[in-house]
Amino acid sequence: MLCELHTLAINPFDNEMTETQNLIGGSGQDEAAAAGGARKILVRRPGMAAGRMSWRDWRNVRTWRHTAQLAFALLNVFLCAQFYLWVRYYETGGRTLKVARPDGVEGWLPIAGLMNLKYTLLTWTIPPIHAAAMFLLAAFLLISLLGKKAFCSWLCPVGTLSEALWRLGQRLFGRNVSLPRWLDVPLRALKYLLLAAFLYIVAVMPAEAIESFMASPYGLIADVKMLNFFRYIGGSAAITIGALIVGSVFITNLWCRYLCPYGALLGLVSMASPFKVRRDAEACIDCGGCAKACPARLPVDQKSRVRSAECTACLSCVAVCPAQNALQLALPPGKTTAAGGDAVGIARRWRGRVLSGAMLALLLALVVGGVIGAAKWSGHWQTRLPEEVYQELLPRAQQLGHP
Ligand code: SF4
Ligand code: SF4
Repeated sequence: MLCELHTLAINPFDNEMTETQNLIGGSGQDEAAAAGGARKILVRRPGMAAGRMSWRDWRNVRTWRHTAQLAFALLNVFLCAQFYLWVRYYETGGRTLKVARPDGVEGWLPIAGLMNLKYTLLTWTIPPIHAAAMFLLAAFLLISLLGKKAFCSWLCPVGTLSEALWRLGQRLFGRNVSLPRWLDVPLRALKYLLLAAFLYIVAVMPAEAIESFMASPYGLIADVKMLNFFRYIGGSAAITIGALIVGSVFITNLWCRYLCPYGALLGLVSMASPFKVRRDAEACIDCGGCAKACPARLPVDQKSRVRSAECTACLSCVAVCPAQNALQLALPPGKTTAAGGDAVGIARRWRGRVLSGAMLALLLALVVGGVIGAAKWSGHWQTRLPEEVYQELLPRAQQLGHP
């Protein structure tokens, strides 16, 4: 049975609390009253000690997310290296190592993915060129529909780099810069403007125009053009990217928060996701740790559910929450009442509705693996062009302009 302590100030990230709780003698169910006068009971999450959870604990959402980020980043490095070798083979007239074309690089062609998606919806025909771009886009849209904008914080290599940079800044300078609201809000609109521009371009293209663009020399090797953009980067593009990299050290998620149209699209779709970060006011001890931990600067501690398109399901808020069942990525709770913050009643309310870090990782693997597997199995994954086309186009890729 839970004993009561009155108006004891708690900081869940403070070792003192652990000592106090040890004195109380809670065995997994620690108790205390929260600050601010209202009597709250802390039922501590299993595995949490002094506001942290061991990285080896399978319940640690950070471990799952960082593992997924690392795996996807390495996969992208591997794909890009293989793609470069494939391009070099044709550029050198067959004098270098011949490797297979990695179709997964088409994940870097989101506009081609959008165009192909529109073409498929209009004609009910899977396009033969860059279909992988469409399948990957569809997989990431499905992820957003099911598990919020998890693509951004769990898979996207640019998101991973962006996070590494602002965490580096935090380490070096002790904090990141938060732009004032009057600047933050209009800047956040930029990514929606960019998205609107891309959506407009695709929206006004009829199926025939998409088909002829994809069949043009530029369209056929749009992936090579993307690679060459970075290989032969111009001065102004290099300065812009350099400024974004330096700025990302100081400003949290500079690219993702203000400029990425892909993230803007996934964010809008993610608002329809039934899974949301949800806070149980009865289990919550109002410590505010979740809001402080949120890289998207969302007031998690004041919401019962986070609907914002900025939420990336990174679960940083969930990772720091000390209270059992207070904060989770979940479906709407059941109707079970929990008089006086009864822990059993609260647990029953959330039973079978929570997407843990492990389950979210599994969902991502199933969706991405399932979509790629289905595309491969049906024979639509690969762009199949005769060797002669690549032999002809790749050596003069730099001369090919947009049709
Ligand atoms: S609300 Fe939580 S899951 Fe969403 S972005 Fe903020 S910390 Fe990440
Ligand atoms: S939900 Fe937020 S405010 Fe409530 S206990 Fe968890 S971290 Fe603290």
